[in-house]
Amino acid sequence: MIPITIPLLGEEEARAAAEAIRSGWVAQGPRVKEFEEAVASFLGVEHALAVSSCTAALHLALVALDVGPGDEVIVPSLSFVATANAVRYVGATPVFADVDSRSYNLDPAALERLFSDHTRAVIPVHQLGCAADLDPILALAAQRGVAVVEDAACALGTTYHQALVGTRATISCFSFHPRKIITTGEGGMLTTDDGDLASRLRVLRSQGMSVPADVRHQAGRVVFEEYRELGYNYRLTDIQAAIGLEQMKRLPELLSRRRELARRYDELLHPLASVTPPVDPEPGSHAYQSYMVLLDEDLDREAVMQRMLELGVSTRRSVQAIHLEPLYLDEDRAPLPVTEQIFARGLMLPLYPQMVHEDQDRVVEALADATT
Ligand SMILES: *Cc1c(COP(=O)(O)O)cnc(C)c1O
Repeated sequence: MIPITIPLLGEEEARAAAEAIRSGWVAQGPRVKEFEEAVASFLGVEHALAVSSCTAALHLALVALDVGPGDEVIVPSLSFVATANAVRYVGATPVFADVDSRSYNLDPAALERLFSDHTRAVIPVHQLGCAADLDPILALAAQRGVAVVEDAACALGTTYHQALVGTRATISCFSFHPRKIITTGEGGMLTTDDGDLASRLRVLRSQGMSVPADVRHQAGRVVFEEYRELGYNYRLTDIQAAIGLEQMKRLPELLSRRRELARRYDELLHPLASVTPPVDPEPGSHAYQSYMVLLDEDLDREAVMQRMLELGVSTRRSVQAIHLEPLYLDEDRAPLPVTEQIFARGLMLPLYPQMVHEDQDRVVEALADATT
């Protein structure tokens, strides 16, 4: 069976994790700091803060921006449910925006229509590793004094106008879940250039403690902590950070491998009339966390997926349309026709760094069989 994805973890990651355990720093410690520095330096941002997941990162970002009950946060509906859940965690209301039909990302024109007096933040998602159109989104938000939080869960290494994403919003959030570009098992990262926000996020990450435990242990004098605001346990462990550091060394190789496989899919899929490959808005910019094609409307997607499964190929349906999930059905909203189209027609094909060309050929053969 060709799986939908497998993260590339090797001996180096295993050795690094074992060393972290031997060193005794199994909780948040020096390797977390090194991992944060590695990500900050890769992205060219002032501050990076490791957290237990991207969901935790999105939640903390909204807490740190003081978003709460009565506030609205504009999000694309075509996303993983965590994007909207984070808004609900702080008691605010997600306002669902439609997406662009080719990039699958927040449509700036749709966004513009949704601002209200209650809008406090916008969360553009770089869906599946494809950059959202940040220039108009940042400009519209700035005109209204609204914060932007980038959901870059799938987009470590994605570029927009030749610059890495996750560097321009007030706060950006990354994921290290096994299905993302690099993994720490579970994990996430917050990035920002704002020093005050970074300090507040650091405190919120660790129970609201004024002086974190690792700093107290290394202080060389007695230090007591204080709790001034409601915090969370969203820390990453040193064991996970040790794995993350090894993964960061592989990042250039992981990205180039994904991009090469995606280009090869583009070519192989060209003859299939009822399958539309994804777009890369600026060639070489897409990180291809997933490779999602659109099937023609007259094809039965479930039947295509079932046939491919019988031929030994795992696929997944499109990213969710969050507004159609039972949890969100009662939200008031504008129509979201593009989101619903993509949700109905999207099909994710297997893509992972160690995938070999023969497996890719088998995927395309199975797709051709299932769609003709
Ligand atoms: C995976 C994902 C998340 C959640 O990341 P976790 O690290 O699993 O919490 C959030 N947003 C998007 C767009 C994602 O793809």
